[in-house]
Amino acid sequence: MRNNVSITTKMMDHMKSAGRLAGKVAIVTGASSGIGEATAKLFAEEGAQVVVGARRAAELNHLVDEIEACGGKAVALPGDVCDEAYARALVHLAETTFGGLDIAFNNAGTIGGMGPTIEVSAASFVETVTTNLVAAFLGAKCQLPAMLRRGAGSLIFTSSIAGHTVGFPGVASYSASKSGLIGLTQSLAAEFGPRNIRVNAILPGAVDTPMYRQMNATAEAQGFIANLHALKRVSSPEELARAVLYLASDDASFMTGAAMIVDGGTSINRT
Ligand code: NDP
Repeated sequence: MRNNVSITTKMMDHMKSAGRLAGKVAIVTGASSGIGEATAKLFAEEGAQVVVGARRAAELNHLVDEIEACGGKAVALPGDVCDEAYARALVHLAETTFGGLDIAFNNAGTIGGMGPTIEVSAASFVETVTTNLVAAFLGAKCQLPAMLRRGAGSLIFTSSIAGHTVGFPGVASYSASKSGLIGLTQSLAAEFGPRNIRVNAILPGAVDTPMYRQMNATAEAQGFIANLHALKRVSSPEELARAVLYLASDDASFMTGAAMIVDGGTSINRT
């Protein structure tokens, strides 16, 4: 599923003036669909030059075409975030094409390893944790030196309420990986705060993306999930993108080490 929000001429005019990310260079992983795609578009609309990553080249190229057709600047590099060489190549591309790196949204993820926990193989657990957590560490490890060269930066990870406030059954590896991202966020925030790099995690509730549709294929399942939210609906990818934009921008200049919940009230709606 591709989200149906396209960039308009009005947005293009805004890009050319001072958007909230004017002059910034950003990496967005998991940009071939869902939250990452919506965020890459919004970052470009707000004036950032964006390097987009994921494995599916055609989707990334389509996204770049869409951004460029409206006057924005983006470049795609397909690859697997679990590969450290790929993480390094994304940073190299940002520096050689756009002159540096200010923002990294390490968002790529998978909902692998689902099902009764005693039936989940160690290999499947490791695969999920590798994609969701180890890859985020590798991304940060490669991105931080570029931000240090810049003298500032904003790193953002996509965690989940499934790794923090809400225990969902049957997603042990996913939840463990998303909890791990919060620890990673807090440690990096403490280590790099003195050097002017902010590190935060965003914790969505359910967001209407291909991952969500894969997990909740029927209207009944989608109704059940929507009902868990105090707002009685799931989020759009664009609503999440606006929260990520906040963390990326100077509006969040005093925010670091935060696990920012954007869940439509799921966490407080447990009775
Ligand atoms: P999507 O399935 O739409 O997006 C997942 C993205 O991750 C795709 O762009 C996919 O690209 C990329 N990806 C997955 N594995 C890899 C890999 N090994 N290497 C490179 N890219 C990879 O789902 P969402 O937009 O929903 O997911 C984005 C993030 O949000 C994930 O971290 C997810 O866990 C998190 N999240 C989602 C929620 C939801 O309800 N949707 C709730 C809470 C958190 P490609 O297949 O092209 O490689």
